[in-house]
Order: sequence, then structure tokens, then C-alpha cells
Amino acid sequence: VKSLVRDHAMSVTFHTGIAHACRSEEEVRETHAYAEKLRRDYGYQHLESLDRTGIRRLIGSTEYVGGEIDRDAGHLHPLNYAIGLAKAAAKAGVRIHELSEVHRVEPGPRPVVRTPSGHVDCATVILAGNGYLGQLSPKVSAKVMPINNFIVATEPLDERAKDILSEPVAVADTRFVVNYWRLSEDNRLLFGGGESYGYRFPDIIKTVSKPMLQVYPQLAKTRIDYAWGGTLAITVNRMPCFTRPGQNVLSASGYSGHGVAMATLAGKLMAEATAGQMERFDLMASLPQHRFPGGAALRWPLLVTAMTWYAMRDRLGL
Ligand SMILES: Cc1cc2nc3c(=O)[nH]c(=O)nc-3n(C[C@H](O)[C@H](O)[C@H](O)COP(=O)(O)OP(=O)(O)OC[C@H]3O[C@@H](n4cnc5c(N)ncnc54)[C@H](O)[C@@H]3O)c2cc1C
Repeated sequence: VKSLVRDHAMSVTFHTGIAHACRSEEEVRETHAYAEKLRRDYGYQHLESLDRTGIRRLIGSTEYVGGEIDRDAGHLHPLNYAIGLAKAAAKAGVRIHELSEVHRVEPGPRPVVRTPSGHVDCATVILAGNGYLGQLSPKVSAKVMPINNFIVATEPLDERAKDILSEPVAVADTRFVVNYWRLSEDNRLLFGGGESYGYRFPDIIKTVSKPMLQVYPQLAKTRIDYAWGGTLAITVNRMPCFTRPGQNVLSASGYSGHGVAMATLAGKLMAEATAGQMERFDLMASLPQHRFPGGAALRWPLLVTAMTWYAMRDRLGL
């Protein structure tokens, strides 16, 4: 991500620093032990462990008792990044056809992609629809589930911003239904949280304000200026699903909340595979991949039941 932003001179700032905020001493011990493992076994030196004072100084909330900060990871404006990627692709000769929904893919020696008004004969098809793929490939959708997630943006916080985050880092907490937040370049709090299943969205402001005010009760009277949501995709083991669902068809999806970095890597590996260098795609495709239990009819109800159970554990602080 960093080198793409740099090499294509995108109008995107990569801000370094991702903090993980833990809610219990047990989580803090696990997080610190994991940081130590990364240092010892992989030589990764960018993680700083945070105790209770350290996390509270950084994120101005009493909800958390410790954590860590990764000084090499970072956050960026994702729409500007997507626009930067599209511009770089167009400059390299790629033709992008918006508003052309693919409703069928026919694998084969020359696979065919069909839209309502036409078709394209291809050498290779890359399925990159992620959470929006629907039933285009039943082999992929058996292993990759769509899930909705939501973000709100407060009014600009001006002076109050430094009491929310004392450094321009992004934060994610340890809840199963994760809370994550950062400040925008105009000092709004962008707070993400809540989940829903199926293509209908709930009242986003209500859904996200609740966890936001748990973390920052001091924002109770702060105006919410924007709210939005989208569909991402998860897998059973939260590892991405790289696969060949048909002859000359490649697919990568199910980045489980890490798609900004992982979909970027997937694009690179699928480009390599299309050019005949299969090794790195095949390595990712060899990761264990599980089908969601229940088959086509029961997958959704089972997922919703499991997610509701874990969300309840979050609320009970377990
Ligand atoms: C609210 C929210 C917050 C998130 N926060 C983070 C975060 O903090 N960090 C992180 O790493 N990730 C985050 N994600 C996940 C991240 O956005 C995704 O993992 C990432 O966008 C995946 O990239 P992609 O290109 O594979 O899929 P997408 O960005 O979903 O793009 C898929 C594209 O395929 C198109 N498409 C789908 N089906 C068809 C079809 N049949 N015909 C034609 N076109 C089709 C869609 O229109 C879309 O343009 C978040 C997601 C949401 C919704």
C-alpha cells in the first residue's frame, strides 16, 4: 500500500500508528505476549506495549486497561486510495466499465462474463466483488459471507480532538463486534462499529453512537454530521479465501476487516498468476478454507445466531 501510494504520487497521506485497546488484564497479557513473539520470532520491532497509563494517555477513554501500538502499520483515506488506484490503472491502459453488473460467469478455455447488455470473452476472469459477489460463484459464497459495517463522523472537534486521541493514530479494540476509530484530517472523530447481516441497513447513527458513547461519554452532546455503511466479507477462520472456482477464473475475497491491505496484496498476486507466476497465489490458496455450516438455506440463520451470541458476550464484558 505504502509503495503504491508513493510510486503513483496519489493524493493520499499514509499516517503511521495503529493501536489495539484491550478491555481486560487477560487481553493485555495476551497482546503483550503476541508482540513479544513477533519481536522474537519474526524480528518485527515496531510494536510498543502500552500499560493502563499509556493507553489512557493515548486514547482518552477509561474503557481500556492496556494494549499496544504498531508504529509501522497505518491508516489512510480509503476513497482517495481507491481513486488513486483507478487513476494509476487507467494510466497503465486499463479500461474501467462502471455500472456494468456481471450476472453470470461461464468458466472454460475462454471464459465468458455476461452483463444484462453484453458479454466479454476473456483469457482470465478475476472475481473481486468481495462482499457484493452474491451468488455469482456458489463455490466462493459457500466459504465467504457478506457482513455490513458502519461508520459515523462527528462535527469537527477542534480543541477537543486532542482529548480523544493525543496522536494521529487509528485504534481498534478487542471486542468481537469491533470498535475502531481515528480522526479525520479536519479533526472529526470517525468511529466505526456495529454489524448487520443481509443487504438491509439499520439506523446507522443509533447503531454506532451507542458504542461510541460507551468509549467517549464526553461526546454525548456532539453532533453527528455523516453516517454510512458498506458490505465487507468474512471467512470462518478470518483468513482470506484465494481460490480458482472454475477454469481460468481466479477469486480472492473474505479479508475479514483487513481488506485495504489484503485486497491490495490479492490484486498483486492475481496479476502475477494471470501472467503465469502462480507460486504466491497458490501459497495463499493453500491456506485452510472452511465452508460455513448449514448449506445454502441455513448458513444465514446460523451465522446470525453465532454473531448475536458473541455480541452478547461483548455486552457482558466476557
Ligand atoms: C464500514 C466499513 C469499514 C471498513 N473498515 C476497514 C478498515 O478499517 N480496514 C480494512 O482493511 N478494511 C476495512 N473494511 C473492509 C474493506 O473495505 C474491504 O475489505 C475492501 O474494500 C475489499 O476490497 P475489494 O476491492 O476486494 O472489494 P470492494 O471494495 O467491496 O469492491 C468490490 C467491487 O466489486 C463490484 N462488484 C461486485 N459484484 C459485482 C458484479 N456482479 N458485477 C460488477 N461489479 C461487481 C462492486 O460494485 C465493488 O465496486 C471496511 C468495510 C466497511 C464496509
